[in-house]
Amino acid sequence: MQDRRSDRRAERWAIRKGLRQVSKGRTASCGLPGGRPDGSVVLRVTDATGTPAAATTGATGRIAGFAGLWTCGSVWMCPECSVRIAAKRSEEVAKVLAHHVGTGGVPLLVTLTMRHHREHSLAECLKALTKGWGAVTSGRSSQRDYDQGLRGWVRALEVTRSADNGWHVHVHALVVVEQTMSDDAVDAMTGSWFARWSAGLVRAGMPAPTEEHGLDVQRIESAGLSETSAAWSRYVCKGLATEAVMGSTKAARGTSRSIYELMRDATVGRRLENPDTGQVIQLADLHARHLLREYEELIRGRRQLTWSQRDHDLRNDVEDMEDELTDEEIAAQDLEGEDVAVLPRETWPIVEPRAAELLHVTERHGIDAARAWLDDLGVEWWLPTRLTDDRRHGTRPGD
Ligand SMILES: [Zn+2]
Repeated sequence: MQDRRSDRRAERWAIRKGLRQVSKGRTASCGLPGGRPDGSVVLRVTDATGTPAAATTGATGRIAGFAGLWTCGSVWMCPECSVRIAAKRSEEVAKVLAHHVGTGGVPLLVTLTMRHHREHSLAECLKALTKGWGAVTSGRSSQRDYDQGLRGWVRALEVTRSADNGWHVHVHALVVVEQTMSDDAVDAMTGSWFARWSAGLVRAGMPAPTEEHGLDVQRIESAGLSETSAAWSRYVCKGLATEAVMGSTKAARGTSRSIYELMRDATVGRRLENPDTGQVIQLADLHARHLLREYEELIRGRRQLTWSQRDHDLRNDVEDMEDELTDEEIAAQDLEGEDVAVLPRETWPIVEPRAAELLHVTERHGIDAARAWLDDLGVEWWLPTRLTDDRRHGTRPGD
């Protein structure tokens, strides 16, 4: 578990570094020193038992991290920040669902997808999404849903890219209905959602999807209710964080790439092996770079997660809900814990390419091993002398 987690982290860090050549936005600066006045970076370690991080990563024991790095807070474009944001959001959603399950609500997982061709631009797909989802969630029909027993919803926007069919924009919604709502009434409601969704897409100039491919509704069996709703929360909030785990999207996985996979292909590159010589090369996919730039430009400012509003906001009446943090605030939260070593400004560029390895050593073998690793690397580092509290609210490097 630990090694797999370390490998994935190493890949995320490598992608984030590579994105500095690709991103035209904030993500180009993510992970650069900028949190502390002198530009130093602090290696820190904490006992993860019982922390949210442990709950989401499945890790046990130590978790290591760096303080003093600037974070971009992009849920759409950053492999590292999006993981942090997804972990926090899925906790919030799971808590809200648990509240509703405990008070006579029944969750559904509804996925709405479009029919599209390779020629449709991402801009067209996103415009259609706005029209389609707007048709589902506003107007008289929407009021009727609430009258019939709909409590509310939280929806996530997801984008993937297929080699055959181009951009694929779809919606996952966690929907809560009253227990008293009959199966027929639920079917009628989701059927009406699909009709409204489809009409909205057509008004935006897209072809009408077939219900078979455009709508997927999953219900929880009463056994395993809380486990399933927690798993759904992670699934809906995953963003870039993980590959699809539940297989409920109908896009053919073979030709379809997640944004994370596009990023990996655009930066770390694709592994190509010459079958005759066995020689392996890593080749950055320039088409993927081109696609990512289109995506970054168009997705900026969109919300990944939105909730039904006012009286229907599912977060109403949930006890102990913390004030909602912005994506940027979540990403900027440094790991709390014990300072292991201070890496001065000049040291960081040498450590950064192997930062994931240093974190792994710290977690696996402890503080002394981490310091020995730095000595072996031959870089200058300092023992922490005081508890630093100037680690938040960094300025963006270059600002
Ligand atoms: Zn970031």
